[in-house]
Amino acid sequence: MQLKLGWLYPTLMGTYGDRGNVICLEKRAQWRDIEVEIIPLDKEAPLEAWSDIDLIVGGGAQDRQQEIVMRDLQGAKAAKFKALIEDAVPGVFTCGSPQLLGKYYEPALGQRIEGLGILDLVSKHPGFEAKRCIGNVAFEITANPLADDLTKKLGQKPVALGFENHGGRTYLGDVQPLGKVLTGYGNNGEDGWEGAFYKMAIATYAHGPLLPKNPFIADWLLEKALERKYQQTVEFSPIDDNLAKQARNTMFKRLDLAELSSTA
Ligand code: GLN
Repeated sequence: MQLKLGWLYPTLMGTYGDRGNVICLEKRAQWRDIEVEIIPLDKEAPLEAWSDIDLIVGGGAQDRQQEIVMRDLQGAKAAKFKALIEDAVPGVFTCGSPQLLGKYYEPALGQRIEGLGILDLVSKHPGFEAKRCIGNVAFEITANPLADDLTKKLGQKPVALGFENHGGRTYLGDVQPLGKVLTGYGNNGEDGWEGAFYKMAIATYAHGPLLPKNPFIADWLLEKALERKYQQTVEFSPIDDNLAKQARNTMFKRLDLAELSSTA
């Protein structure tokens, strides 16, 4: 089995270490003898590169880089990218990426950046005098079918851990939140929601990177990408994630969420 992983603007949208999500997906696939071809989806990518993709990763960026990306992600490229999401290609989009998948992002400086309008959400940076949303975040995943699938996989409610670093605040319209904040800011530090979930796209403010901190989400993305491509049910046998479990339990204790430490 083989997967084509599309990586959104790796150079421009790589400020906050989300390349770790690409590495995590690639490794966890390889450990199961699944070949992964990583395809940069950026200014230099030919148009056809945007069609045949099985899995997408989009990282975070500063406001300036987001503006450069949106100047490029227009027309036929934008249409192909939207078609991937609408065709339920699984993906994980962090911080600056979901802001661009929404209707618009108003940065701290300069003009509003019109988004792709794939996610019914808007994002606004309240200005440099406002506190930046920085710190550890923990949230219970509530969006379905992701939450149900992960509860079955884990045998307990799925709680994700990450690290936030954003100035923009995101407000959801008619789209599922990804989850409910247990500690941290989440989308805007006001409504208690974190991220968004649409078709098979996970949108989140959680860097970390997200997937090595929550390997079960990586496995879910890989399984869904294989199921979509090969039209068959895929259920991975577990990998020894003891190190990740120990790190998670340390974080749960540090965040006064020790009751969430998993023994599984
Ligand atoms: N520049 C955006 C903001 O400040 C996104 C930041 C990020 O991707 N971490 O909200």
